[in-house]
Amino acid sequence: MSNLKTGIHIKDDTILNAPFFKGAFIPKKVILPLSQHTGKPSQELAEKGQVVEAGEEIASSGGFISSNLHASISGKVEHISDYFHPITGKGKSIFIEGNDRTQEWSDKKESAVDRLSIEELTNVIKQAGIVGLGGAAFPTHVKLQPPEGVEIETLLINGCECEPFLSSDDVLMRNNPFQIIKGIQIIQKIINPKRVIIVIEDNKQEALERMRQAVLNKNIEVIRVKTKYPQGAEKQLINTVLNKEVPPGKLPFNVGVIVQNVATCFAVYEAVYKDKPLIERYVTISGDCIENSGVYLVRIGTLVSDLVENLGGIKKDVGKIVFGGPMMGLAQASMEMPILKGTSGVLLLSGEFAKLFKEYPCIKCSRCVDVCSMNLLPTKIAHFTKHGKIDLAKEYNISDCIECGSCEYVCPSRIPLTQYIRIGKQLLLEKKSE
Ligand code: SF4
Ligand code: SF4
Repeated sequence: MSNLKTGIHIKDDTILNAPFFKGAFIPKKVILPLSQHTGKPSQELAEKGQVVEAGEEIASSGGFISSNLHASISGKVEHISDYFHPITGKGKSIFIEGNDRTQEWSDKKESAVDRLSIEELTNVIKQAGIVGLGGAAFPTHVKLQPPEGVEIETLLINGCECEPFLSSDDVLMRNNPFQIIKGIQIIQKIINPKRVIIVIEDNKQEALERMRQAVLNKNIEVIRVKTKYPQGAEKQLINTVLNKEVPPGKLPFNVGVIVQNVATCFAVYEAVYKDKPLIERYVTISGDCIENSGVYLVRIGTLVSDLVENLGGIKKDVGKIVFGGPMMGLAQASMEMPILKGTSGVLLLSGEFAKLFKEYPCIKCSRCVDVCSMNLLPTKIAHFTKHGKIDLAKEYNISDCIECGSCEYVCPSRIPLTQYIRIGKQLLLEKKSE
């Protein structure tokens, strides 16, 4: 098995992994932003004062690339208004005050699922509001319908989860291997690939064994790859496993591949077998400030502050709050942020992790170039951005950067390369819209 040739091995002596499932949490209130996914925000259906059940559709897909949204708890819609958003800063959101009614979803018979056609299965996934749960939150029903004439050779199932701290997929695979396989088989039926390969890094031995048991006598392979960052990113995973390059500006289907995350496959299983929409997900809560770090089943729209309080609070001052992992995650201004469909983890870190380092001049060591899995020249791109030369940054393919942070991680001069690149991308977008 080939492995990612670039990328980095992240030292984990300061890492507090959270490898155990600790339980489910149903909050008393949720705040559900209409923008939970890549594409257009959903359009609200629910009205102020309406009583809703957990799982009821409260906003519908707002366009071709968009997704439905469902109440994640039973209760009353208090109001619909702007609220903090972990990615966009602010966005229209539906506020639900919970009542104590609970909702149960039970499994259908296998034969009832077998009878569903490809169109019906795709529609169930669309109705359930499923989006990619690895972080990008791209609507799954759209991804499963590649343009006409495109043949999908390989379905890659991503169980890599290569960022430090994050253990949600690892725990999910250990706890629900048979359900994940059922979800994969549904996707297999929809896109009819020649090969299905589940990819798991070698630091998740138990998950690997459990998934291998679950695929016995099925037309699905499970392979182990060496732990390396950012192997879990789509293009990098395709390169690692299939030795194929997705050209700049192209998507995996252009090389005959579709990648789905294991958590997305689990959500597909729940939608099809239980009629359960995407209203909760596994989330890693970790960092050196949290009392009870672990992986929890969390309702979408739960505020981090409510979750943390329920887990016993914090044990020291929080210097940095991150949604996602420490490499690609987004820093947040407060704990009053809601969990989104794409939130795989929340890190509460002390000031030590928030420290700003002094930036030194580039010594042209080329380490940043050696680790870039997108074959970019981070030092040049950052230099152009810093000096306002956005056209040159564009020529050096700034848009292909996946913001993995590997270049910055290895830079001996502590140059915030990713930060410069993010700013450069933003400036490029602004220039385009002028
Ligand atoms: S330039 Fe972008 S893709 Fe390359 S290592 Fe840096 S952050 Fe990652
Ligand atoms: S790693 Fe840092 S010091 Fe080395 S070439 Fe890249 S930017 Fe310059």
